[in-house]
Amino acid sequence: MPAVKKRRKRVIRRRLKKEVVFVALAFILFLYICISIPSLFTSNKLAKLGYDQDAIAVIKELKLSDLLLDNQWYSDQLNEALKQDSFRSDLIELYLATDALSNDDLLLYDRLATSYSKEDLISCFQQLEFYEMTPLLVFDPIEDLSGYIQDVLNHRAQNSSDHFELSNSYVTYYQDTEPTEDPGSITMLVNKHFYLSESFIPENLVEMSVKYASKGVQMTQEAYDAFAQMCDAMNQEGLSMYASSTYRSYQYQQELYDDYVKRDGEQEADTYAARPGFSEHQTGLTADLASSSGGLSKFGESAEYQWMLQHAHQYGWILRYPEGKETLTGYDAEPWHWRYVGAETAAKVQASGLTYDEYYLLYLQK
Ligand SMILES: [Zn+2]
Repeated sequence: MPAVKKRRKRVIRRRLKKEVVFVALAFILFLYICISIPSLFTSNKLAKLGYDQDAIAVIKELKLSDLLLDNQWYSDQLNEALKQDSFRSDLIELYLATDALSNDDLLLYDRLATSYSKEDLISCFQQLEFYEMTPLLVFDPIEDLSGYIQDVLNHRAQNSSDHFELSNSYVTYYQDTEPTEDPGSITMLVNKHFYLSESFIPENLVEMSVKYASKGVQMTQEAYDAFAQMCDAMNQEGLSMYASSTYRSYQYQQELYDDYVKRDGEQEADTYAARPGFSEHQTGLTADLASSSGGLSKFGESAEYQWMLQHAHQYGWILRYPEGKETLTGYDAEPWHWRYVGAETAAKVQASGLTYDEYYLLYLQK
């Protein structure tokens, strides 16, 4: 082959190589543009809606762009929430419906979601305060939640986190009852829904010293230790009280209840006495208190009661049936009836402002 031809072939090959490289590069560039331009558009649109760059990154990662853009959904709260670890993409509508959603709100939502639809709950969270929704944990499932919301709104003026009453009753006692979970634990819930079996007797029951109690009454060792410490601290401030009634066996409660029913009828007896198995006294963690000056019936008016309201939680004791929460506990106010749940839980219950019935169902139930 002549040398000229050879050279020309080499030149053509080199040129071809250059062209292949060029086409490949152009193709890569084309791909890059195809992928990045719509994404840039999306970012731009999300930014226009109000989301900031960090939130947009999360929106893209969670593939929420279309949902948010199609519905034109934006709120400052959602923008902030997106950047937090606790963000729940399944509850976007809830973030949009409220001003702020705490972890407690999310927990309450999940607890209520077992009985109510997403739409109903969003409507609740939109219109009601936390303390106006926690009663739903205790109440029977309500068919028409809008009726409940209206009832709550009608009572806004007189209700607060300390006092909660409504026109209608939303709870039936002693119906669809369940055995309490974890019987024997210091946090077990016993009320007119959760009961202890006939055979349940708390472990470590000890007879209390007459220094702290009426003669012959018993309490579990742990509750008693805390009770004695509490009484000693109270004594140092010149106040004094004692436990007049503590542990009651199932059988004893049965006798009490039967006597009340004989005297006043079942309906009346149910308003002031627990049915056997449903009395918190069977836990061995409960005390009816009497001040040394005024006894049990006037305990609510005593300085000892005021001291208890301030300090009892430090020793693990809580007031079980507060005034203004009768519809939640199922009991008329009983300033003398206190319950041991341990110092850690008691402090949290105190801080929450909830009844123990609500607190347990929100935070402790498995
Ligand atoms: Zn009691």
